[in-house]
Amino acid sequence: MKEIKTILITSYICFLILLFFTSTTFCTPYEIIEKDLKQNEIIMSTIKLIDNKEYKKAINNLEQFENLDMLLLNYNGSKFKELIKNYKEILITEANKFTENGDYAFALNLLNSKVKYYKNDDNITTLINYNTNQIKNKNLVEYNGDIEHLFTHCLLAFPEKALNPKNPLSKDFDRDCITPTEFKKILQSLYNNNYVLVDINSVYENVNGTVKKKTLYLPPNKKPLIFSFDDCNYDTKKKNKGMVDKIILDRNNNIATYTSKISIKKRIGYDNEFIPILENFVKTYPDFSHNGAKGVICLTGYDGILGYRTQKSNATSKYEIEKATKVVNRLKELGWKFACHSYGHYHMKEISDMEFSKELYNWQNEVEPIIGKTSIYVYPYGEWEIMDNDKISYKHQQLLDAGFELFCGVGAKNFYNYMPFNSNNKHTLFMDRKPIDGQTLRTFGKYYEHLFNTEEIYDHTNRTIPFRS
Ligand SMILES: [Zn+2]
Repeated sequence: MKEIKTILITSYICFLILLFFTSTTFCTPYEIIEKDLKQNEIIMSTIKLIDNKEYKKAINNLEQFENLDMLLLNYNGSKFKELIKNYKEILITEANKFTENGDYAFALNLLNSKVKYYKNDDNITTLINYNTNQIKNKNLVEYNGDIEHLFTHCLLAFPEKALNPKNPLSKDFDRDCITPTEFKKILQSLYNNNYVLVDINSVYENVNGTVKKKTLYLPPNKKPLIFSFDDCNYDTKKKNKGMVDKIILDRNNNIATYTSKISIKKRIGYDNEFIPILENFVKTYPDFSHNGAKGVICLTGYDGILGYRTQKSNATSKYEIEKATKVVNRLKELGWKFACHSYGHYHMKEISDMEFSKELYNWQNEVEPIIGKTSIYVYPYGEWEIMDNDKISYKHQQLLDAGFELFCGVGAKNFYNYMPFNSNNKHTLFMDRKPIDGQTLRTFGKYYEHLFNTEEIYDHTNRTIPFRS
């Protein structure tokens, strides 16, 4: 009997010791059940609030979860989708109220506390970036140095095809374009050298009809950079020669590229053209973009824009204009700007005054309705004309009358000044742009040293002309 009692007492003590250890390190079954009940309770009360359309209360109710499991929300399906969709408007309105009052930190705190529900949402990301920049901007310094303006053409998305000697355009492509690999290396080097993208419209202003340079304010030690991209029409004659066919929006409203005659896997691309590549780069390095600035897309109109045959001479132009407008609007939302690169890519000295008027008319009637007014004029071939003897030339007057304010040429050295240079009447703001292409990478390395090392940038794998040729 005594033995039995001893065994019982010993067992009981062992049980108590075991219970002590398990309860301090693990949940007891009772606690697990209680936690499950609590979670269920939160979910049920949240659903009730959603049904009453009390979205703000419902979101705050979810904050009771110590670790909110997004899988759990997905599991509960449509109710929570409804909540996240409807709460977005409330969140944006509240954050914007803080922003309007200059309470950027409050706005940012609020947005960051809810960003877990909106991980890939561009509106919320833009607001977070904007408020982050406003906080940073308090420490901006005046910048009085040069403004770098670089330009290239559409990228050689499929370099092995584009630069293949059998391709009738391979020589032109080599001379005028760069490959995605080169573009990515250029961006990385510019970022490492403290360059920051600025909005082309932020470098000048129109004061009572006079266009003037504007002082820039940038984060300390940053240097301004404008990047423009010419001839972005993906014209028919270049199709299936190694460039993409067009710029599109994917199902999630993200910018992508489309190429028809290629394997299904590569048909939609996110890594073979300057727009998605720059978008991805800025996602990784947000401080490469000052106040959300991206690049300048320079368009002609004779064969449409961005791969859409929007010209009036095309029978299906109405449908194409609809598609192109959606892409353009999305690009604008993302911070891209547009410039006029003429309608027909003329040569300045070969075109008559009459032809010039007609070609400007075509731009205003076919491209401007899609992209909106732009004040930036980018001369085709960099060929410009401002004066005719000592008077403003007829062609230049046409451009001024059409509302163009900043005129861009081509030059390996920086030039941003008033023209005509040797006249008392300096009334036109003119900016040169440094070309980046196969030829300049091989030939003009010294003008690019402060930006990147041309030999390191050069795509030695895909280019058929050796760097030292
Ligand atoms: Zn051009």
